[in-house]
Amino acid sequence: IKSGSKNNYAVYSLGISEQRHRHLQIEKDLYQALERQEISLVYQPQIQAAGGLIVGWEALVRWQHPEMGWISPGEFIAVAEETGLILQLGQYVLRHACRQMAIWRDLGYRDWHVAVNLSVKEFREASFLASVSAILQETDLEPHYLELELTERIAMENEEDTLQKLRYLKEQGVKLSIDDFGTGYSSLSYLPLYPIDKLKIARELVVMAEHKEEGMEIIAAILSLAHALNLSVIAEGVETREQLRFLLAQGCRQIQGYYFSKPLPPEQCVPFAQSFKV
Ligand code: C2E
Ligand code: CA
Ligand code: CA
Repeated sequence: IKSGSKNNYAVYSLGISEQRHRHLQIEKDLYQALERQEISLVYQPQIQAAGGLIVGWEALVRWQHPEMGWISPGEFIAVAEETGLILQLGQYVLRHACRQMAIWRDLGYRDWHVAVNLSVKEFREASFLASVSAILQETDLEPHYLELELTERIAMENEEDTLQKLRYLKEQGVKLSIDDFGTGYSSLSYLPLYPIDKLKIARELVVMAEHKEEGMEIIAAILSLAHALNLSVIAEGVETREQLRFLLAQGCRQIQGYYFSKPLPPEQCVPFAQSFKV
């Protein structure tokens, strides 16, 4: 469980047996949650700071449990991975995100993309590529509107399989980014091998850079690495004007975080875009 949200603190304060009970309850109810439409998506804008253009939206999954209330993905994604339900959940998320992007495209937002998070298990599945293609076809969405966010762990493991899948997606025109960059593995040797488009600087680094010189230096190093490899960069979890200022000063052009907007339900995205000014 990641720390940070109020919900998670509630979980920390539970005893071991209560935690176990909650875990089992989540495991049991997640099966029905999909059918009962308790799962939905919210979208957080990704902003090109110069000019204040919205370039895309990251889809983030939400579960409103009838008794337990909102359950954070930090809690139930792990359960879904353990039980194998992540495959169904992943397809559900991808389908809804692509459907939503097709609606935005048809409204004229043709320079947006939708970014979808992938879990390792989903990516490793033999049917993964077929299911991405099927969903793009079914939702009638051109692949360049879709960006897949991979973790460093996906990128590091199982090189041959990873390379093959990423190349296929790239050939189709799907965009690829590395999520939470700078927190996981220290090896960067995979980067030039893979057809990656974008690095997402992890929130932890943004927070660290505010207080520590080292954080700032890591971010500067990521930006120069990205420049050398011709990758674009976005910083996530940007909350304050101070953070925004030093990221822009370092040359990071794309920003995502509460400073601009929290994740929004789909019906609020277009109104947000229409009224958005930096
Ligand atoms: P992530 O991919 O790193 O997503 C960013 C998380 O930070 C989201 O939490 C988002 O709501 C939150 N966030 C955005 N801006 C800020 C900010 O300025 N400050 C702070 N403190 N937080 C901010 P969320 O939605 O609870 O998701 C947590 C994690 O769950 C995600 O981390 C991602 O790893 C995973 N996740 C979410 N949706 C999906 C999904 O559809 N599929 C998969 N496989 N994983 C998902
Ligand atoms: Ca993400
Ligand atoms: Ca993150």
